[in-house]
Amino acid sequence: MSNAYDVIVIGAGPAGYCAAIRCAQLGMSTAVVDEFVYKDGEPALGGTCLNVGCIPSKALLDTSENYHRVTHQLASHGITAQGVELDVKQMIARKDKVVKDLTGGIRQLFKANKIDWLQGHGKLVEPKTVELTRADGSSERYTGQSVVLATGSRSVEIGAAPLDHQKIVNSDGALEFTEVPPRLGVIGAGVIGLEMGSVWSRLGSEVVLLEAQDEFLAPVDRQVARTAQKEFKGQGLDIRLGCRVTGTQINDAVRVSYEDKNGPQELEVDKLIVCVGRRPNTDELCSKEVDLLLDERGFINVDEGCKTNLPDVYAVGDVVRGPMLAHKGQEEGIMVAERIAGKAGHVNYETIPWVIYTDPEIAWVGRTEAQLKKAGIPYNTGVFGFAATGRARAMDQTAGMVKLIAHAETDRLLGAHIVGPQASELIAEAVVTMEFAGSAEDLARTIHAHPTLSEAVHEAALAVGKRAIHKAN
Ligand code: FAD
Ligand code: AMP
Repeated sequence: MSNAYDVIVIGAGPAGYCAAIRCAQLGMSTAVVDEFVYKDGEPALGGTCLNVGCIPSKALLDTSENYHRVTHQLASHGITAQGVELDVKQMIARKDKVVKDLTGGIRQLFKANKIDWLQGHGKLVEPKTVELTRADGSSERYTGQSVVLATGSRSVEIGAAPLDHQKIVNSDGALEFTEVPPRLGVIGAGVIGLEMGSVWSRLGSEVVLLEAQDEFLAPVDRQVARTAQKEFKGQGLDIRLGCRVTGTQINDAVRVSYEDKNGPQELEVDKLIVCVGRRPNTDELCSKEVDLLLDERGFINVDEGCKTNLPDVYAVGDVVRGPMLAHKGQEEGIMVAERIAGKAGHVNYETIPWVIYTDPEIAWVGRTEAQLKKAGIPYNTGVFGFAATGRARAMDQTAGMVKLIAHAETDRLLGAHIVGPQASELIAEAVVTMEFAGSAEDLARTIHAHPTLSEAVHEAALAVGKRAIHKAN
C-alpha cells in the first residue's frame, strides 16, 4: 500500500464517507482515517451519525413508538392487548444490529470503491501530510494532494452536571440504558433532548426537561412550537423553561439543583441526560506548526466552498459552521469532492431541511415568519391542519398542521413549517419546490394523491392564495 493518495479524508461520518465515495467515483485514489471504536471494541465507519446519533436514536424512537401505540393508542381502533411486555435488552440489541448492518454497509462501499480505511487518529502535521497514530501507539505518515477534514463533533459537557457515565450521561449513554429509569431528567430541550426524552417517556419514565431558554424551541416557527409544546405536555413530558442548572449530586439518585424565575429549585431523578449541544472536534487535529484557522467557538473557518485557509485543505460537516445535521455534511462532502475534481460542486444552504423525530414530528425548511419580518420581506402564509385531511383522520393522528410561507409579490416559496404525522417525509416536497425556485401556486396546481397526508401540503399551498377547498379561508 502506497502512502501517497490523491485525497485523504480525516473522519468517516456522513460528511467524510460521502466525500471519500464521491472522490473515488471521480477516479481519485482515496484514503479515510477514522478512530471510532464501537462499544464492542470493533473499529467502525459511519461516525456519530451511524454509531451513536441519527440511526440508533431513530431505532429506539421506532421501538418506543410501537410500544406506546400498543399500550396507549390502539383502544380507539378496537384493539386491546393484554400482557404487553417490554424487553429493554432486546430493544438495545435490535438497535445495535441496525447500527452494525449499516456501518458494515459503509465498509462494503469502501471496498467496492477501493477506498483505504486507515484505522486510528489522524493529525495534520503539514498541510498535505497526515500522521496516523494507531491504537497500538505506532504511527505512520501519509500524503494527500488534497485533504478533507471531517472530524465531526461531540457532546458539550457542563460543569454543573459532570458525567459519571452511570447516572449522569450524554446522548451516547442515553442510547444504552439497560432498564427504564422511573424518573428521568434531561438538561436541554433541543432536538436531541426532546428525542431522547420521548423515547424513555413512551417506555414509562416520568420525564422532566430543564431548558435554559425562556422560549420553547426558539429557532422553530412559533405556531409550530406552540402546537408541539401542547402535544408534548399532553404526553406527560414536563418541559420547564428558563431553568439554569447550578449543580448535581449523585447518591442513590441524582439531585439536580437549578434556578428558575422563582429562585432555586431541586429535582430528584434516577438518570440525568445532558443534551446541551455539540462542539467541533478540532482539539487534536493539527500539530502546532500547521496554521489552520478556527473561529472563536473552535469550528474550522471555511468559505462557501468549504475551503480552509490552507491550500488544498477542505473541511466539511459538523466541524464547520452551519447546522449540525448529517445531510448537510453529506452534501458538503460531495461538493468538496467535485470541486477537487475540477467540477462545479455546490450546496444550497437555503434549503437544508431540519427534522425533530418526536410525536408529532416537527420539520421545517427555509425562513420563519419572524426572520422575514426582521428582514422586511413581505410574505403570505397558508396554513392547513391535518385534522381536516381524511388520511390523518383514518390514522387517528390529527394533531398539527402545515404552514407554507410565500413571497407576497412573487409567490416564491420561502419556507415550510410542519408539525404532524410524517412531517419528516412531507418536508421533502417543500425542499424540492424551493430548490426549483417554485411558488406556492406551483404546489397548488400539482396533483396530490387522495387520501394522503401530502394533501395538507397541497391545501396549505392553496391557502396561501386563500382558496383552500377543505377549510373556510
Ligand atoms: P461525525 O459523524 O461526528 O463523524 C466524525 C468521525 O471522525 C467520527 O467517526 C470520529 O471518531 C472521527 N474523528 C474525529 N477526529 C478524528 C481524528 N483526529 N482522527 C481520526 N478520526 C477522527 N443529524 C441528522 O441529520 N438527523 C438526525 O436525526 C440526527 N440525530 C442525531 C441524534 C443524536 C443522538 C446525535 C448525537 C446526533 C444526531 N444528528 C442528527 C447529528 C449528526 O449525527 C451529525 O450532524 C453528523 O454525524 C455529522 O457528521 P460528520 O461526518 O460531520 O461527523
Ligand atoms: P440543540 O442545540 O438542539 O442540541 O439543543 C441544546 C439545548 O440545550 C438548547 O435548547 C439550549 O438552549 C439548551 N441548553 C444549553 N445549555 C444549557 C444549560 N446549561 N441548561 C439547560 N439548557 C441548556
